[in-house]
Amino acid sequence: MKDTKPELLIPANCLEVLKVAVLYGADAVYIGGEMYGLRARATNFSRADMAEGIKFAHAHGKKVYVTTNITAHNRHLSGLVDYLKELSCLDVDEDGKPIRPDALIVSDPGVFTLAKEHAPEIDIHISTQANNVNYLTYNFWHKLGATRVVSARELSLEEIKGIRENIPDELEIETFVHGAMCISYSGRCLLSNYFTGRDANLGACTHPCRWKYYVTEEKRPGEYLPVFEDDDGTYIFNSKDLCMIEYIPELVDAGINSFKIEGRMKTALYVAAVARTYRKAIDDFFEDPALYRKNLELYRQEISKCTYRQYTTGFFFNKPKADAQIYDSNVYVKDYTFFGIIYEITKDGYALMEQRNKFCLGDVLEIMEPDGKNLSVKVLDMKDEEGNPIESCPHPMQKFYVKFSELPKTFDLVRGPSKSGDN
Ligand code: SF4
Repeated sequence: MKDTKPELLIPANCLEVLKVAVLYGADAVYIGGEMYGLRARATNFSRADMAEGIKFAHAHGKKVYVTTNITAHNRHLSGLVDYLKELSCLDVDEDGKPIRPDALIVSDPGVFTLAKEHAPEIDIHISTQANNVNYLTYNFWHKLGATRVVSARELSLEEIKGIRENIPDELEIETFVHGAMCISYSGRCLLSNYFTGRDANLGACTHPCRWKYYVTEEKRPGEYLPVFEDDDGTYIFNSKDLCMIEYIPELVDAGINSFKIEGRMKTALYVAAVARTYRKAIDDFFEDPALYRKNLELYRQEISKCTYRQYTTGFFFNKPKADAQIYDSNVYVKDYTFFGIIYEITKDGYALMEQRNKFCLGDVLEIMEPDGKNLSVKVLDMKDEEGNPIESCPHPMQKFYVKFSELPKTFDLVRGPSKSGDN
């Protein structure tokens, strides 16, 4: 089993990001529909987009999983039946075969029962939300028909190894290896519901764990007494982000089948950079562990070009201590800015783009290619959609044409070092 390459599982919040994930190295992509998956604030997929995304992924030999992992209340159940029936046949392909996801990610036993009944052709993966921390739990779900169980983020590598030794080979272990951590236990968190009425377990978390906190005294309402960790204040629940790019051998040795990246609200740039870097690290390791060790610095550099909150190895080696949290700020580290995706190359060598951040004629930018190359390019010419010359692209989502000093390809991404004021 340790000779088999693990799956790289990447999140996507829209069709464009799904295509980027597939092209930049994902083996599988997980997405949410418009209902019943956590991450309600991610843009999510309509039925038509989901069908198109699954067709695109399957055409590239990749899989798509759909999250259906809310903790369902009675009021959700009848709608769920219709939704599951819809998922079991979103559309039909040219050969008349149904287009459907490869798996549903489920946490609630009631939803599991409905999925078995109304979408029996689709595999079921048990979500991390179900707090899967021991091998009996894994075997329980396996007996009921699940093909994969996602481990709780609170497990160490030793514990995951112990699970692998006590479950059947065909039952897959999926584990988060990169991305944001919840400060609560496996996402079972009441902070958001308590403070804002928006329930994290129904996908509506407002992220109060990232807020800045003060103490108030009962008789002095409105007087905020700061709790100082240092001069910047205190962010008592603010975890660092998980990053295991330097520990691929240990993750493989633990018998994990699927390396999962967190972040169904992330941009195409983040998804591309993380997918491409983990793809390379996994492929290098399986080609030759010495090559992997030699390239560690390269992976570190590439992964730090994504937005992140400083990194931790979470629970994998030890129980996290105080240094797994960030006490002085809730801002992301953002060294690189995303300028846009290249949709098309015209006959005369211009790249059609849609603006994500402003850049100007003469700027030197970086083009990211799916195969791992980065090209440093100068902006030689810019035209609006009607072909009129322009000197910059100030408007969000503006479409325009650019001539770069080197010819890019469709689905290359354009980025550059961040300046203040970039989004
Ligand atoms: S408030 Fe923070 S810890 Fe709680 S569910 Fe939301 S992201 Fe997770």
